[in-house]
Amino acid sequence: MGFAVAYLAFALLSREAPGAGFDSVVRPAGGIAILWLLLRQPGLAGLDTALLTTVAYVANSVTGADPGVAALITATNVGQSVLAVVLLRRWCPSLWGCGGTRPLDRPRVLAPYCAALVVALGLGALVAAVGVAAIEGGEQTAEGILWFGRNLCSALVMVTAGLLLGQRLTSPRPRRRLLGEAGPVELVAATAFTVVMYGLAFVLVDEPLAFVLLAATVWFALRFSTLLSSLHSLLVGFATLGLTVNGIGPFAAVERTDLGYLVAQFFVAAISVTGMILATGRDERQALSAELRRSQEEALYEASVRDAVIGSITEGLIVVDQTGELLIQNGAASALLGDGTGPLTSDSRFALSSWSIDGAELDDSQRPTARALRGETVHGAEVVLRIDGQPERVLSISGIPLPRDEIRNRSRALMIFRDVTEEHAHRQELASFAGVVAHDLRNPLAAIDGWTEMIADELDGGDLDPQTAREFVARVRSSSGRMRELIRDLLAHATSGSRDLDLCPVDIGALVAEIAAARHAEDRVVCEPVPPVLADPVLIRQAVDNLIGNALKYVAPGVEPEISVRGRRSGSRLVTVQVVDNGIGIPVAERERVFEEFHRAHYRDYEGSGLGLSIVRRIITRHDGTIVARANPTGRGSLFEFTLPAYDAAAAQLGA
Ligand code: ADP
Repeated sequence: MGFAVAYLAFALLSREAPGAGFDSVVRPAGGIAILWLLLRQPGLAGLDTALLTTVAYVANSVTGADPGVAALITATNVGQSVLAVVLLRRWCPSLWGCGGTRPLDRPRVLAPYCAALVVALGLGALVAAVGVAAIEGGEQTAEGILWFGRNLCSALVMVTAGLLLGQRLTSPRPRRRLLGEAGPVELVAATAFTVVMYGLAFVLVDEPLAFVLLAATVWFALRFSTLLSSLHSLLVGFATLGLTVNGIGPFAAVERTDLGYLVAQFFVAAISVTGMILATGRDERQALSAELRRSQEEALYEASVRDAVIGSITEGLIVVDQTGELLIQNGAASALLGDGTGPLTSDSRFALSSWSIDGAELDDSQRPTARALRGETVHGAEVVLRIDGQPERVLSISGIPLPRDEIRNRSRALMIFRDVTEEHAHRQELASFAGVVAHDLRNPLAAIDGWTEMIADELDGGDLDPQTAREFVARVRSSSGRMRELIRDLLAHATSGSRDLDLCPVDIGALVAEIAAARHAEDRVVCEPVPPVLADPVLIRQAVDNLIGNALKYVAPGVEPEISVRGRRSGSRLVTVQVVDNGIGIPVAERERVFEEFHRAHYRDYEGSGLGLSIVRRIITRHDGTIVARANPTGRGSLFEFTLPAYDAAAAQLGA
């Protein structure tokens, strides 16, 4: 109903103008018809179409056309509007009102948009001119062109403003600023400029001032929103045509009135299209730069996430290209491969020397990096790394070829480094451990086999006397006893390294007294008071028991063992404990080696597994302490000295 009222109102306004009906000058109603059909989308038989047809017929009859012409004009009006709608929906499907959601904000859409209006209204004008000529006779070419001019002019300003307004009102908030980049003061200034310029151009008819009018359109198009710019075109369009019809201004001064009207109409169409081109060009530029800003921000964010992830990886990671340029590196890589003075440089990386795990020096082409750069995937290659002034390390290196850098034509690879020095040492330790275990268990087993075979032989011969049998059995039991002892020590060795520490205050003096009692050696072990330590009582007991056991065992024949244990605070955090004996002592060259697994200094006359002291050292080391073996400073025998955390210092630290 609103559309119908607006259509009728505009059509009746045109009645005032000379040349009503087909000759009517101002016809904004044409734009309203297209907008009406676009927004309501009725079918050809729809209520809106019927209403439009009725209103158009009434308007045409009222403006003075004869019934035949009025019917023809009405049919053409409705037909060209329907065609314009069909073409707009087909050619500009992304546009709000034509099936899409976007406002008119790209110059690219302007061409099909204007083409749809020109084609539909051009065809309408042709049909109307031919039809009226047939009914009324005479030539109607000039009238046809005029009809086209005013319909196009009306469609360009009305449909554009209508679609932009509709899109804005229905789009979700927040919406773009109506004033665009400008402020209210500039709006007032631009409006005043428009009024003054149009005033001058329309008053000083003799001066060719129409060109300055374009400046107002450019101002609005470049500084204000597209909607405001199109409303500006709508208003100045109305003003121009209104003044011209009333005989005011440069267009009314043209000698042939109808030519003047035509020029005025094309002037309005021209400023409207110019405004649209400028405003949509600006919109597109802004959208592109906003998009660019957004993708820059996204790229920055992604880079920060990537850096955080790469930085938090504990393995060394670098991306390197074939010229040796380091494209990416993380902190772990510079800690692992660098000299500790900061990030890696290409030079520092390639100055590294590396040997294969079996001792051969790798030449440049065999290095994992070179292999990955050649396109080979490297899985955990083990390499010995030697950097001047640093201990030798074993690295596990993986290399993954990356897509080629096409711009600089270089191959690239991702290299991952892991320090496996400890793992490697462990593996080797385990291998030698397994070898020794196998050997040490096989010996008593072979002895058992041998003695039992002899028993069997003697039994077969029938001359096994009880004394011999007892002797053989004793040897078998001694061998199996050695095996049991070895297995017990092996178990202790395994658990001393893996058990979690359960720390609490331990009184070494009381512990020594208990151990001496358990070994029935109270008279031989003397313990002076020892300051309390913070330790795992089970493991410490095992360590001290081993030391006292050795001190009781490694004495010369006929010598009564005498053992003394004493302790004192050393430094602010430690307690140093000494176990001193009067035994056979340890040769100087063996004093460090006795702590190695299976190493025995006196293997001829004394039984043992060679694991006791390695267990002791492992336990002390796990408590962050140290242990050494020395000669007894006051005479024969040895002295074992170890440190443990003092209880009160540790407690004070915990309390702090
Ligand atoms: P095991 O006693 O089972 O042989 P240990 O690891 O306890 O193994 O000791 C390693 C070696 O150190 C012993 O074989 C022995 O030669 C030497 N040793 C250990 N304690 C003493 C000690 N108190 N006096 C002399 N030698 C010792």
